[in-house]
Amino acid sequence: MIDFASIASRFGTPAYVYDVDSVTRSADRLRAALPNGTRIYYSLKANPHPDLVGALSAAGCHAEITSSGEVDVALVAGVDATDCLYTGPGKSAEALNYALDRGVTFFSVESGTDLRRLAAAARARDVEAQCLIRVNGFAAGGSGLRMTGTASQFGVDIAEVPALVRTAAEHRGVRIRGAHFYSISNASSEEGLSTELRGSIRAALWLRDQGLPLEVLDIGGGFAAPYARPGHPVGYPALGEALVAELDAGLDGWRDGRPQVAVESGRYLVAGAGTLLTTVLDIKESYGSRFAVLDAGINQLGGLSGLRRLLPMSAQPAEAVADPGSTPVSLAGPLCTPLDMLGRGLGLPDVTVGDVLTIPNVGAYGLTASLLGFLGHPVAAEVVVAGGRVRSASRVELRRTPLPDRDGGGHPVPPAVR
Ligand SMILES: *Cc1c(COP(=O)(O)O)cnc(C)c1O
Repeated sequence: MIDFASIASRFGTPAYVYDVDSVTRSADRLRAALPNGTRIYYSLKANPHPDLVGALSAAGCHAEITSSGEVDVALVAGVDATDCLYTGPGKSAEALNYALDRGVTFFSVESGTDLRRLAAAARARDVEAQCLIRVNGFAAGGSGLRMTGTASQFGVDIAEVPALVRTAAEHRGVRIRGAHFYSISNASSEEGLSTELRGSIRAALWLRDQGLPLEVLDIGGGFAAPYARPGHPVGYPALGEALVAELDAGLDGWRDGRPQVAVESGRYLVAGAGTLLTTVLDIKESYGSRFAVLDAGINQLGGLSGLRRLLPMSAQPAEAVADPGSTPVSLAGPLCTPLDMLGRGLGLPDVTVGDVLTIPNVGAYGLTASLLGFLGHPVAAEVVVAGGRVRSASRVELRRTPLPDRDGGGHPVPPAVR
């Protein structure tokens, strides 16, 4: 058990507490649910804290990264550059150069432009970038495979992939190694997830028959986790067997790593490891409703729900009781916007000023997915616990720094504010 009260008094609130042991257990659970030998990529997007990235690397996960900042974190956390897969639409020449210069050579390619830009950057460094083609556009369902994708900025429409493979063969600097799918996120059922992942395998077989080299098959993910409320991730008791059957049906060598099968996960690996500690700053009654004003709002948690990447924010602290009672409480943050609301209608009959509330399952899409710069409060502390003891405590800082002028000219900078 982690002593949250002691952490709150030692480091202050708001504070995220991350349990390294929980991350390791999640990685083991996911591995056990997948076919033997499946490679797991941890998506740093979910939580780029270097201690968590390091723990997942030690647990055998590779890293799925998508920015220069994530390259830095992965390498600092001890991930080998060759164990990184760089993904995402709109990779700039600067970002590609940055990654290649640090030894990252494995990329998911999202378009012809992306491929040519990568090839040019790799040639300039005299290296060969290894590529997966991110595939958009198949509908999994029943036993068939329909190529009726949804319009998206992600990936290459499946019907266009064979042509892109032929184009790639004309470019020095890049070599196509396989396919990358990511068709579902936070799947609501094991059955739905299984259908999508098996559909990706079938789509890959079709692409291989059209000439796509298939040395790596990244079927994506969609492994689910609760968010900002008590609960446990669902189990996947039948998934592994279903995937094995699908792989056996079409891919002879997969058990020997030909192709290497891979999945990606962010939230399933880290969501349960994180808890947000937040102090009640005020309790107010207004026209018959009760508000607890916290020291953490959407600047520290849940900013991503504004992007509809998550359900509307409805946090539930571990302290809440099932029956809201006569006066349900709304949890407001400290920001000057009515949208700064973490949860409503909660049963917190005894809450008083100075209480520390604990919001569980915020290890994924918590701090760095929030509106850190909005209204200028200090960013929440991040305290990492391993074996029940504090391993590290730190704070992310937003800082204004002078910007170099590419034309070499001088220019004024605003005064430093802190
Ligand atoms: C966001 C993302 C993930 C991780 O998603 P989770 O729901 O956190 O598991 C994996 N792969 C890609 C390509 C993504 O964009």
